Amino acid sequence: MNRHALDELKQQIPLLKYLQALDWQQARPIGFGRFLGLCPLHDDHQPSFLVDPHKNLFYCYGCRRGGDVIRFAEIGSPKSSRKPANSNPRHRGQRLAV
Ligand SMILES: [Zn+2]
Repeated sequence: MNRHALDELKQQIPLLKYLQALDWQQARPIGFGRFLGLCPLHDDHQPSFLVDPHKNLFYCYGCRRGGDVIRFAEIGSPKSSRKPANSNPRHRGQRLAV
């Protein structure tokens, strides 16, 4: 996939919607339309995951990872695909159905 196609894809997938489809809950708004919540990428106990829906970017103050929705999918997917494919069949496919 070339760079231009990636940019178009990013604009088509709002990060906030993508996160909410993964059951991410924002803890509180922190101004300028941004939100803080628990980080889905590490074992977070206090909200350190910042989402900027306007720039379509995230940043975690805990594990210090950030980027766009594509980057999130890259970081987030190995964790969920580590389990055997049939370990939890009832949840597979439902979470991402928006
Ligand atoms: Zn984190």
